Amino acid sequence: MKTSHIRKILFTTLGFSSSILLNLNTPSFAQALVTLPELSNINSSISTPQTQQKKTDLQWVYSVAEKVIRANGLDDHPWRFEVSDKYDINAYAGELNKIVIYKGLLDQIHGDDAALAFIISHELAHHTQRHAAQQIELESSLKDRLLKEADEEFTNWIVAEKQKSDKPISIAKKDVIKQRIMLQKKQEFDNALQALSRQQEFQADEVGYKYMSTAGYDVNGGLRVFKLLSRLPSDYTVNSSHPPTPQRIAALNGIMSEYPWLTLWVDGNERLKINSQPLTFDVIEDEISLRINSRFVSK
Ligand SMILES: [Zn+2]
Repeated sequence: MKTSHIRKILFTTLGFSSSILLNLNTPSFAQALVTLPELSNINSSISTPQTQQKKTDLQWVYSVAEKVIRANGLDDHPWRFEVSDKYDINAYAGELNKIVIYKGLLDQIHGDDAALAFIISHELAHHTQRHAAQQIELESSLKDRLLKEADEEFTNWIVAEKQKSDKPISIAKKDVIKQRIMLQKKQEFDNALQALSRQQEFQADEVGYKYMSTAGYDVNGGLRVFKLLSRLPSDYTVNSSHPPTPQRIAALNGIMSEYPWLTLWVDGNERLKINSQPLTFDVIEDEISLRINSRFVSK
C-alpha cells in the first residue's frame, strides 16, 4: 500500500470532514491520526478505458497546474498531483507538495479550465501558506497549555473539596470531575482548531484567486466552483472545518473587487513570457499521479 498514516490535516476543497478528531477515551489529547483516503488498486493494464480516462484527467490537471505554477513563480521545486479514483467531489493538499483531486470533482467541472485553476490554486495556497504546519504548531501548543490548565483545575477542585469536608473523596467522584474537565478542554481544543481551519480556508480562497488570476484564467471560475458546492447536502455543518459556502462566496466577491484581475494578470503574463517553456512532468506511481518538475530540473 502506498498510503500511510499522516496527521489528520487534510485541507479539503469542500468540507465534508472535520479536521478535528479527538479520541475521547484517551486520558490526554491524543494526536489525531487518520489514514489517507483509500486509493483504489491500480489496474496495471494500460489499455483499459479507465486508465485512458485517468491519463486524460492527468493531462488536464497538468496543463492547468503547470501554467498556474509557472505564472506565479512557484516552480522552484516540484509538485505532485494525483487523480483519485474515488467519485468524491473533493480535493485536498496532502504531504508537503502533493495535491489530490478526486475524479468526481473533475467530472463535475469537466472542461472548465478556470474552475480547475481555482481548485488547484486553492490547494497550492494551503501549501504555500504553511497551513498544515500552522495546524500542527497550534495543536502542539494548545495541547500543552490545556493539559496544564486541566491539571491545575483538578488540583484546585481537590483543595476546595478538602476545605469543605474531611471525608475522603471517592475515586469515582474524582474520575467524574477529571472527565468533565477533560471534556471541556477538548471542546476548547476543537473550537480553536476549527477557527484556525476556517480562517485558513478563507486565506486559501484569497491566495488561490490571486494565483489563478495571475495565470490568466477566467476569474469567475472560483464562483462557479462554489455554486456547485453550495448545492451539496453536506455543504455546511456546525462542526465543519470549512466555512459555509455563502460566506466564502461573499468573501471571494470582496477579494475580486479589492484585487482586480488585470493587475494580477499583467504580472503573471510577464512571468510567463520570461519563462516561456512549459515545465516538464513525469507520470509516476503507475500512472496514478504525476510530478510537475521545477524549472531547475536537468533536462
Ligand atoms: Zn481548502
